[in-house]
Amino acid sequence: MGLRIERIPTLGDNYTYLLICEETNQAAVVDAPETDPVVKRVQETGADVTKILSTHHHWDHSGANPDLAERYGAPVFGHVSDADRIPGFTDGLEEGDTVTVGNQTARILFIPAHTRGHIAYVFDDAAAVFCGDTLFAGGCGRLFEGDPGMMFEAMQKLGALPDDTRVFCGHEYTESNLVFAAHAEPDNRAVAEKLERVRRIRSDAAADWHDATPAEMTIPSTIGEERATNPFLRADTADELGQRRAAKDSF
Ligand code: ZN
Ligand code: FE
Repeated sequence: MGLRIERIPTLGDNYTYLLICEETNQAAVVDAPETDPVVKRVQETGADVTKILSTHHHWDHSGANPDLAERYGAPVFGHVSDADRIPGFTDGLEEGDTVTVGNQTARILFIPAHTRGHIAYVFDDAAAVFCGDTLFAGGCGRLFEGDPGMMFEAMQKLGALPDDTRVFCGHEYTESNLVFAAHAEPDNRAVAEKLERVRRIRSDAAADWHDATPAEMTIPSTIGEERATNPFLRADTADELGQRRAAKDSF
């Protein structure tokens, strides 16, 4: 009995997650931009949604918060600094705080860079991190409200998690990220091998992402895989990360 993690494809390439405590049936929704696919999955699973969790304020991660909060009578969590930007916000979180989903506990990492109020939810017992648009499989988020030094620090925090921690990020960007990774590190065998594997997984993807099945999803990755393949997590300095981020922006 642990934490069941349902991956719900939303919009064009977003991941929304439904986390269900298998002991209590209490559940949380992470990063929902659309209501219907979430409600459908909640009905299918019979989960009892008690919390809405946001990694950051961007609309494609939080647009459905008010709707879902009203439907389930659930509070909406996000970084305390984003009280005015996260739709439906009710409860502020900071680094070191914890939030529970039934009997499962997440601790909060403050990882500003993509946005200045970005957080990650780390479920240590379940070996899972929900990191929004900061760490992607094979990549990292754009620096909309932060600088390379901030993203480097975020990568240090996430990279310090155990290798077997599963990485649940905000988008299915893995294939294009790894194409850049292979360009950034042409001699990295782990990158070449993962790119091949990911291309196979994605080759018969559904035309509409909403119809995607688990077989065509490359998420979750793991921290161990990212340490071997992610050119941003692997950058030795903030400068190197910044150079790679700038190169990818125009890749
Ligand atoms: Zn974002
Ligand atoms: Fe996003």
